[in-house]
Amino acid sequence: MDSNSTNGSTPAPSCQPALQWKLWIYTNYDCNLRCSYCVAKSSPNALRRAIGLGNAQRLVDEAVALGFDEVFFTGGEPFILKEIYAMLAYSSARVKTSVLTNAMLFQNSRLEQLLAVATGNDNLILQVSLDGGVAEHHDFYRGKDSWQKTVDSIRTLQQHGLRIRLSTTETPVNTGHLDLVCDLHRSLGIPETDHFIRPLARRGYSKEGLELAMSNLLPEVTVNLDGVFWHPLSTDADMQVSKSIFPLSTAVQRIQEQLDTIASTGRASLMTFT
Ligand code: SF4
Repeated sequence: MDSNSTNGSTPAPSCQPALQWKLWIYTNYDCNLRCSYCVAKSSPNALRRAIGLGNAQRLVDEAVALGFDEVFFTGGEPFILKEIYAMLAYSSARVKTSVLTNAMLFQNSRLEQLLAVATGNDNLILQVSLDGGVAEHHDFYRGKDSWQKTVDSIRTLQQHGLRIRLSTTETPVNTGHLDLVCDLHRSLGIPETDHFIRPLARRGYSKEGLELAMSNLLPEVTVNLDGVFWHPLSTDADMQVSKSIFPLSTAVQRIQEQLDTIASTGRASLMTFT
């Protein structure tokens, strides 16, 4: 993060250790899918817990003032919300912006509204979850027919000229077959730099995977209606940094102080996990 705050009342954190400052906004917790490994415990039955357009805009403003490098919108499925398009338009006009999606809702008016905000917008990237080069590796956790619908949607979005980044969760089911998902992203014309693979984490609904916590994760400032958290992996209580969202700078300062403490003790190497 730069220390180029444009707001004199906003304390700029120091830059040690150096890291890219990202702001994650949980827009909502409900989802059209009910993936069995969902770290956010999202599903069609989950409470929405919507952050709201006003909060999202204020968060973007404060993140820009603090010099954040990028804003990510996540959920739940953000495209369930009517106001997601306004959030993305506002954010991408000010800072590099990504939105995470399962890409299964882009038909009719949702597709039209997405195209209206995303077409020709180099500051906005859609990050789509795709766990396999064949359906069985993806659908095992995400539900029957979800792979085919997601791949079809990716092709549709690409035909409209939108940039797609792929995110793959490595699971016991796909771990021996990751070459297939790489073959698929290359066949879709998605470059290596726009394909991430991350391990499964034991959080939320997932009963298997890596044990991750504040002590071993490089922070990526994350906000939901309940406050500010260390990392988007989880908005469980053990990851909470502040119960107040605003001003964002207060939580950022706490995170920076904790980072400084970790750096001074010379223990723990923190891993990135997004
Ligand atoms: S993993 Fe993503 S797509 Fe699946 S239920 Fe959770 S939020 Fe929805």
